[in-house]
Amino acid sequence: MPAITVADVTTLARIPEPGPTDLDRRVRSVTTAPVGHEGEGFPVRRAFAGVDLRDLDPFLHMDQMGEVEYGPGEPKGTPWHPHRGFETVTYIIDGTFEHMDSHGGGGTIADGDTQWMTAGSGLLHIERPPEALVASGGLFHGLQLWVNLPRAEKWVEPKYQDLRAAEAALLTTPDGGALVRVIAGDLAGHTGPGSTRTPMAMMHATISPGAQLRLPWRRDFNALVYVLSGTGSIGPDGQPITTGQLVVLGPGDVITVNGANQQESRLPGLDVAVLGGLPIREPVAWAGPFVMNTEAEVRTAFEDYQKGKLGVIPATYVPHGALGGASS
Ligand code: MN
Repeated sequence: MPAITVADVTTLARIPEPGPTDLDRRVRSVTTAPVGHEGEGFPVRRAFAGVDLRDLDPFLHMDQMGEVEYGPGEPKGTPWHPHRGFETVTYIIDGTFEHMDSHGGGGTIADGDTQWMTAGSGLLHIERPPEALVASGGLFHGLQLWVNLPRAEKWVEPKYQDLRAAEAALLTTPDGGALVRVIAGDLAGHTGPGSTRTPMAMMHATISPGAQLRLPWRRDFNALVYVLSGTGSIGPDGQPITTGQLVVLGPGDVITVNGANQQESRLPGLDVAVLGGLPIREPVAWAGPFVMNTEAEVRTAFEDYQKGKLGVIPATYVPHGALGGASS
C-alpha cells in the first residue's frame, strides 16, 4: 500500500484532459527488472537493467527496494560508501530508512518521504533501517533513483534535501480514478518539492482498477513508466504491463496508463513511478559509485576516495548495537 493516501480524492486539483491534437506517447520497449540484492543484502529489482543509457538520460539507475516484509532482526542497509558526480533520490513508500553522510546531511524518512542527495564533488554515506525497526522487523518498500549531473554540476558542493510526504503535490484525474503524487517537476501548474539540477519530473501514481490516467508530459522530456505493483496497460495500443516492468515511451505530449479491472485484493490498484527529464547528452563514464564524463575522472574519484578526500565517517555516527540495543 502506498503511504501517501487521500481520504477523498475529489478534494484534489484535477489533471486537465489532453487537447485534441496532443499526441499519445507510444511504447518503445518493455523490460522486466531482474531481482538482485543491494548493500548488506536487501532485495531489489533493477528497474533499468537492459535499457540503453541514452533512453534513460538524465537518469542512470533505479532500484525498487522490496517490497519485503522483514522478520525481527532481518532489516538490512548499506555499509558506508562513496559517491561522486550524480544524485541519489530515495523515496520510501512503506517503512522507514535512515541516511547519514559525511557532509552533514542526514535524517529519517518514512511512508512517503524522500531524501534527495546531491553527491556532487563527493561524499560518503550510509543508508539503513533504524535500529528499532531492525529489532521489530516490518514492511519495507521504496525506490532509489540515480539522477545524472551535467559536467558543469559534477563538482558542486554536496546537498541534502529532506522532502516530507505532506509536501508532495497531489492531483487526481477528472473522474477521480487516479492519485498522482508529484515529488519533483510540474503537473498542470502544481510543482513537487524536489529541487532539481536539470529539468525533470518524478511522480508516483495509483490508478484504481478500471481507471485511466492521461498525464500531460513535456514534449522535450523522455518518458519512463515503472510498474511498482499491479497490472494494467499503457500507450495508445494498450500494451499489457505488470509488476517490475519498465516502459520506455516514444515522443509525444501525453502518457496514458490504464489500471486493469482485476487487481490482487491486497493492492489498491496499479502503482507506477513516472519519470522524465531533459536529456543531458554527455558522455557517461561510470564505475561503481562514481559517474563522471571520462574514465580518467572515474580513476581520480577512486584515488580521491582512497586518499580520504571524499570525506570521513562523522564522529557522531553510532553503529547499530553500540548502545546495547536488541539488534545483532
Ligand atoms: Mn548510496
